[in-house]
Amino acid sequence: MSVNQLVLWGSLSSLADQLEMVLRINRAREQEGYSAEELEFLYVFVTMNDPDVCPSCASLAGMEISGAFIKQHFPYAVQFSSTEWFAQVHPHCRCVLRMINEHAVCAVLLYGELLMVT
Ligand SMILES: [Zn+2]
Repeated sequence: MSVNQLVLWGSLSSLADQLEMVLRINRAREQEGYSAEELEFLYVFVTMNDPDVCPSCASLAGMEISGAFIKQHFPYAVQFSSTEWFAQVHPHCRCVLRMINEHAVCAVLLYGELLMVT
């Protein structure tokens, strides 16, 4: 596992400014997070895996899709948490799209934002 390092340098006052910006970015991300529709976020199609699952949903089980394409492929999908959508393939559909790489993508996105500080 690689460790992303953020290197700050300069005079004491410029270090203080850079650290202030790091804190500001971290606070903003804690409050707002990232859009669930980021290209890098990957979702898997999950059914209830019981006898009532319809054939069309059963055929989608396990399929992976980028957050950027959810609305295109599932026009009736509704986001109900930071990492999950009701797929709504048809009326009464119980299937969800569940994010599977949240932590890895958030780390990369945040690191990219923090690099702009230095
Ligand atoms: Zn379904």
